[in-house]
Amino acid sequence: MRLPIDAAALESIALTIRSSDPRLETGGALFGPSDGSKVLHAAGPGPRAEHGPRSFLRDLAFTQHEAGRLYQADRSHWIGEWHTHVDVPPTPSDLDLHTYAKHMADRDLGFDRFLALIIAISESQPILAAWILERHGNELILMQAGTQLLDLS
Ligand SMILES: [Zn+2]
Repeated sequence: MRLPIDAAALESIALTIRSSDPRLETGGALFGPSDGSKVLHAAGPGPRAEHGPRSFLRDLAFTQHEAGRLYQADRSHWIGEWHTHVDVPPTPSDLDLHTYAKHMADRDLGFDRFLALIIAISESQPILAAWILERHGNELILMQAGTQLLDLS
């Protein structure tokens, strides 16, 4: 399975990474059709995001503003998150999985599928790995949905 990611979303991610401290994680929310079948937009972290070497927390108010704007623009919904990993592989950490599971357990959010893009930025060319978390009955299944090199130039 390969997750389609719009070129504009990849450019937005590359732009955010280029303008960020490479020793700290950065990221943002992903938006697209509500079934999570593809990624159309990748928001930035927002001015009040918290960046650590092994952690990242989005700016919630900024993300909500982006969600409203993108829903108006093309009816996009919040479908997942992207973030960087500093000198560790682009696989979800225990903390990442805990966060994703929490979003999926939130009935108000109503996620049956949650997308995660993780970008390992320590390599000379960053590697982007796509992940899909799906609910199957009472179980959450994590699937790899493709990797690609991310062009930062
Ligand atoms: Zn992570």
